[in-house]
Amino acid sequence: MARTYEVRTFGCQMNVHDSERLTGLLEEAGYVAAPANAQADVVVFNTCAVRENADNKLYGNLGHLAPVKARTPGMQIAVGGCLAQKDRGEITRKAPWVDVVFGTHNIGSLPALLERARVNDEAQVEILESLEVFPSTLPTRRESAYAAWVSVSVGCNNTCTFCIVPALRGKEKDRRPGDVLAEVRALVAEGVSEVTLLGQNVNAYGVEFGDRQAFSKLLRACGEVEGLERVRFTSPHPAEFTDDVIVAMAETPNVMPQLHMPLQSGSDRVLKAMRRSYRREKYLGIIDRVRAAIPDAAITTDIIVGFPGETEEDFVQTLQVVAAARFSGAFTFQYSIRPGTPAATLPDQVPADVVQDRYERLVELVNDIAWEENKSLVGTTVELMVAEGEGRKDAATHRLSGRGPDNRLVHFDPTPFGDRAAARDERRVEIRPGDMVTVEITRAAPHHLVADGGVLAVRRTRSGDAWEARTAAPSAPVVGLGMPAVGAPA
Ligand code: SF4
Repeated sequence: MARTYEVRTFGCQMNVHDSERLTGLLEEAGYVAAPANAQADVVVFNTCAVRENADNKLYGNLGHLAPVKARTPGMQIAVGGCLAQKDRGEITRKAPWVDVVFGTHNIGSLPALLERARVNDEAQVEILESLEVFPSTLPTRRESAYAAWVSVSVGCNNTCTFCIVPALRGKEKDRRPGDVLAEVRALVAEGVSEVTLLGQNVNAYGVEFGDRQAFSKLLRACGEVEGLERVRFTSPHPAEFTDDVIVAMAETPNVMPQLHMPLQSGSDRVLKAMRRSYRREKYLGIIDRVRAAIPDAAITTDIIVGFPGETEEDFVQTLQVVAAARFSGAFTFQYSIRPGTPAATLPDQVPADVVQDRYERLVELVNDIAWEENKSLVGTTVELMVAEGEGRKDAATHRLSGRGPDNRLVHFDPTPFGDRAAARDERRVEIRPGDMVTVEITRAAPHHLVADGGVLAVRRTRSGDAWEARTAAPSAPVVGLGMPAVGAPA
């Protein structure tokens, strides 16, 4: 009987990307995914060291699994990701029922470490200080049939004082453009029509091989890939956001009018304390140039409130930048001390009630602006890539959901446009996740749009075919770059 596995992922897109490799590695080693709600033989935690008091979350989960493991012969638990890279042997000291601890630089070692722990009946802790192989070259099982993450670099050369990433993911390492494009073409050949280029500092791409324009060249090269409908990227750093990238975005049709650019704070004094190498004027200048070149661009951001030393005046400056930038959305965080970061020992930690108050005022402003921006789209038509899963339902309408070119989420009525009879008896147009539908926006909410008039047009795509094929044959082969698919002809 094949052993079953479950991978639990915490944190950022880079971890989602790496978890697709962990599942690919396990399936290539003969494991199969555990059925939903069934206890897996192997449970893998791909951890985060930043978000949501990550430590408590991990040790809490491990605590719950201890009695399960005690009564399940042969069960194994593995911990990887940023918290493993940070805590190392501390994890098996605190949770001696853990079998394997591996780091961010050696995710490829998981199957071998599980086997060694089983044979030697002894916990295996293996943490490397630098990257073993680019995770992108490892076998992968992608979550989506029509969209994919493509890592262009790992690590980061910046030293933001609140961030632990450089300590855990190391200095920036760039993949060769040819390798990135080969992966993109291979994905499109499998039916993928949307790729998101991924890097801690995606627009610094090329710094390792000395080409400051490598990222804009990569965007343009993605524009040449036949069948690739949508290109997105995350996360750029304002300090490295150069005009050649804006021009490449504007001139390359399949690069989507959407930009996620972390601001973190609107106060130059706080940006200096965060060691963010840009100031508010430069940040707003980039926003203006992006909007001039791409008028319909949706811009989102990350903001931290309550950074040590932040005054009311600093916070007001953040609100001013938010008001000027008119973000379509923002990930907002209350500053919390992250052990091992320079900011953790800074004086003037802001009291929790003050942080909470500022957080609520910021979220209110962000939501008001996002809603106003969404309201301005009512009456426009948009082509959506249909997403997996049902959309927002209410008594009257069973909706599906999809994303527009600007990545806004739209819940839409899947009946033929204007066909009230069909709407009454819920006759839907024949669409699949990955297909494209054109709809008219009829209503706006702060975090999504609604199209209740029905579907104006349907474009069935190769991604829809890929989704259908995958749904029909869930045990689709594991695909690795440059390696024959398991079970597929070499
Ligand atoms: S740019 Fe700053 S916040 Fe982003 S990963 Fe690098 S150090 Fe962390």
